[in-house]
Formats: sequence, C-alpha cells, structure tokens
Amino acid sequence: MRKNYLLTPGPTPLPPEICAAMSRPIIHHRTPQFQEVIKEVHEGLKYIYQTKNEVFMLASSGSGAMEAAAANLCSPGDTVITVEGGKFGERWTEIARAYGINCDVIKVEWGRAVEPSAIKDKLKSNPKIKAVFATLCETSTGVATDIRAIGEIVKDTEAVLVVDAISGLGAIDLQVDAWHCDVVVSGSQKGLMLPPGLGFISMSPKAWKVAENSKCPKYYFDLSKAKKAYDKVDTPFTPAITLIIALKEALNLMKADGLENVFSRHKKMADATRAAVKALGLELFAPGAASDVVTAAKVPQGIDGEKLVKAMRDTYGVTIAGGQDEMKGKLVRIAHMGYITEFDIITAISCLEKVLHQMGYKFQLGAGVKAAEEVFNA
Ligand SMILES: *Cc1c(COP(=O)(O)O)cnc(C)c1O
Repeated sequence: MRKNYLLTPGPTPLPPEICAAMSRPIIHHRTPQFQEVIKEVHEGLKYIYQTKNEVFMLASSGSGAMEAAAANLCSPGDTVITVEGGKFGERWTEIARAYGINCDVIKVEWGRAVEPSAIKDKLKSNPKIKAVFATLCETSTGVATDIRAIGEIVKDTEAVLVVDAISGLGAIDLQVDAWHCDVVVSGSQKGLMLPPGLGFISMSPKAWKVAENSKCPKYYFDLSKAKKAYDKVDTPFTPAITLIIALKEALNLMKADGLENVFSRHKKMADATRAAVKALGLELFAPGAASDVVTAAKVPQGIDGEKLVKAMRDTYGVTIAGGQDEMKGKLVRIAHMGYITEFDIITAISCLEKVLHQMGYKFQLGAGVKAAEEVFNA
C-alpha cells in the first residue's frame, strides 16, 4: 500500500472541502445561483490580492493570464523590461517576443534576486519603456523578488509594473495597491489550493490607460470583454464553472484563517524546511533571497538529483520537484505552499533523509527532522 504526498510548486494538494465542492452536479453559468458565486469570488479575490482593482478570471492556466497581460498592455514594436533569473522570468520574454514586443532583458544569476536599482537605471535610460515584467517568486530557483521596492520605482514613471504572482499569491504578502502593482497575474493550482485551470489578472487604473492604446491582436484574452462582463457580474465566455465554485470554498477557507495567519504559516514552514536541509548538509540555492513558498537546495556532490526525486516519488509516494533547465539533476525543490502543514514538511524531510541514506550520503539520520521540529516547536 502507498499513500501519496504532494509537495511540488504546483499543483498543490486539495483540501477535502474543495474536492467535495467539485463533486456536486454542475449548474448553468447564466443563472442567479452562479451570479451569487461570481459576486462572492470577486470580493474574495480582492481580499487575497489586497486590492480595490477588479480581478478577472480566465479559463486558462497561469501562463494564459501572463499572455493576457502582454497582449492587453503592449503594441508590437514597444519596448519592455523583463527580468530573467529563472525559467519563469524567461517566459515573460518569450511571451512578449511572440507579440513582436522588444525586450530589454535584465539577466540575473540563477539563485539571486534582481537589484531594484537595475530596473531604475533602465527606466531612466529609456523613458519610452511600456512595462516592467517581474516575478514575485521565481519558482525554478526559489527566489523571492522585492516587489515593493520595484513598485516604488515604477510608480513614478510612465511604465506599468506587471507581476507574475502565480506562485506566491495567497501564501506570501503581496500588497497589490500599497506596492503599486498595476497588473498582477496568478493561477489556481498553487497557493489557492485548487486544481489547475484558472488564471487571474488584476488591472489598475494606470494599466487600463495604457491598455487603451494597445494594438496587439487578441480575442479570447481581450480584457475589455472581461471588464464589460465583470460589471454585469458575468463572464464573456463559458467560465470554468466547477473551478469557480471550488474557488469560492478556497477563498472562504483563507478568509476564515485570515491573511496574516496564512502568511505566518507559510513563513514557519519555510523556516523549518530551510533549517532541515541545512542540517542535512545541503546548501540553500538562494540563501540571500529564499522565498517562503518553495525551498530550493543543492543536491550533495556525488548524488544524482533526478534519481533522488524519482525514488522519493516512485518508491515512497512523496513527490517533490527537482531542478529545471540548467539546474536539472542538481536541485531539490520542496514546496510549502497552499494546503500543506508542518506534518507534511516532516514527512517530506523524513523521506528525503531515507533516500539520501540509501544513496550512500553520510549524515546523522534524523538531523533534518530534528531541525524542522525545533523550528515548529520554538
Ligand atoms: C507555475 C508558474 C507559472 C506557470 O503557470 P501555469 O499555470 O503552469 O501556466 C508561471 N510563473 C510562475 C512563477 C510559476 O510558479
């Protein structure tokens, strides 16, 4: 018999309330019942986003919301800033280029966060920059970005700040209005504890002004259609009805907890995970900028990271993530995001120890679990 544990940075585990909500018979979307649901999730999303802006729901994964951001703000030939410190920062560049948008790329070494001053310098040297595309948590490296500092810089320019908060929203603090984030995209399968399939995007008044001049081609992701429907508590196309009903449950769970508690729970789990991997002699990949949603650590010398992750998953049912692209086989990434508690972390660390031990790595068995417990019981 095997029991499965999921500690990947998307998808994340589903609370039973959410599974139950999704098992109910489907209802039609142009009905008063569903309108009630939409009304509630619109309010709930504003709470999670900490914004007064509308937050639109798209039937797409998070990347669809990223594409919507580029397509609605820019025109072919515009220049934007992208920050590439990992796979998801690179995605901003790839999406923008697909629309004929020029990217002034800030390259950041994997495992490090962008210096906000680098963005300031680029904006100064080119006042025509349309947008700055940043990533709240670069999931491929575990790095958290100082969005607040970047917001302070971008707010005094003509450019709009666009934040990929697909991993991080509903797990770590992101004050969309107070930090001057014009456009914030997210997805359902990370901090929000839902299956994949919903994208989210908020637009500030400044973003709408910029969007008025956008000439990128768009239809399904044309946010002016979304806005028109939003104002009538409706959606422009058939929405992901079941996921939106589940979203209502997820938002209720998060409201019942309160954002402060949600954030402090994630911080505690991150502290414990970092302490555990360090106690095992693994080096943190992003020591200066580690996020509270996913911990990336280097696999010890002589250990095959791909085999390690595979054995944890296929032999013991504990799924964590490995490294991507240039870090393939060299990292373990343990997510502590969404419906995860301290006992999931203890399980993951215990399994990591078990497989490292079997692979011949020398360390004190139990050292990681002990370090994690010390954080949880402090
Ligand atoms: C998961 C993730 C994405 C991609 O989202 P999809 O839902 O897979 O399209 C983009 N950015 C970040 C930071 C992510 O963690």
